[in-house]
Amino acid sequence: DAKAEGRGRHRFFRTELLRQAQTRKILEDDLRQALDRGELWIAYQPVVSTLTKAVVGYEALLRWNHPRLGAVSPAEFIPIAEDSSLIDPIGEWVLRTACATAARWPRPVRIAINVSPVQFARQALPAIVASALANSGLASDRLELEITESIFLNEDASTERMLGSLKQMGLRLVLDDFGTGYSSLAYLKKAPFDKIKIDQSFVRGAALDPRNAAIIRAVVAIADTLKLETTAEGVETQDEIELIARLGCSHIQGFVYGRPVSGDDVAASLANSAEATPVGLKTSRLSR
Ligand code: C2E
Ligand code: MG
Ligand code: MG
Ligand code: MG
Repeated sequence: DAKAEGRGRHRFFRTELLRQAQTRKILEDDLRQALDRGELWIAYQPVVSTLTKAVVGYEALLRWNHPRLGAVSPAEFIPIAEDSSLIDPIGEWVLRTACATAARWPRPVRIAINVSPVQFARQALPAIVASALANSGLASDRLELEITESIFLNEDASTERMLGSLKQMGLRLVLDDFGTGYSSLAYLKKAPFDKIKIDQSFVRGAALDPRNAAIIRAVVAIADTLKLETTAEGVETQDEIELIARLGCSHIQGFVYGRPVSGDDVAASLANSAEATPVGLKTSRLSR
């Protein structure tokens, strides 16, 4: 009957929640060891100029090669790292390693590094960034820090102070995943950003849904007025390259120009060519 069915559903949810919590706890324990055991590595994805088609930089994307589970997605383990403060040593390792790797590449392209809101709330962040730059010898204007607008949620003076002291070091600030959170335009006015990354959810299917294209066009118009660069994230097809170019985004990042690869692979491809070639075998998302 309905009552028994309700109890069954209840039991199912409890079991599911418990299973998730256990997985989370296991992952947290494993993550605690992952750095020391060399299970973390960084993949780099090209960012291409819409105008010249040259690769102008790479985004550092953290990877975890779990001994039993295989590749665990950062979408899964970064939140666990943030809740457990593991993001501090891990985030510092990413900053130091990505700066050191990019400093050795044969061309002075930019390196974009994601900074968690948790790291961003730490007073020590500017000192860690300064030390990563000094130790690697990377020129500060090659470094971009990608931040999401959630840093503004606990609105206080320290957020703007932090942005100011990072900016003073000569690096570039990037607003990541724009359009997915609260997307207050006031953030753009208040903070010294250099670039907006338009979230993939707008890029995905922009060719099919004119509302996505309209939103991208509007964001680009605001960015142009404020003299900010724009990167369209998640571009997967040749059609999307052309649409994004028409909509006026200054940069493109996505599988069409390359999936994230190792630092050594980046060094090799930078040594070989100056131009990005679309790898798009797929001509349409509909074919997937
Ligand atoms: P994000 O910073 O927005 O990074 C872009 C994500 O989109 C990456 O996923 C990338 O692999 C994926 N992507 C790029 N091009 C395409 C495409 O054409 N199609 C599709 N479907 N996806 C594409 P990834 O590597 O799984 O990272 C997910 C998120 O995890 C990142 O989103 C970022 O928020 C976080 N993350 C990754 N590495 C780090 C890190 O070192 N520190 C912190 N705090 N967060 C990180
Ligand atoms: Mg990012
Ligand atoms: Mg993003
Ligand atoms: Mg994201």
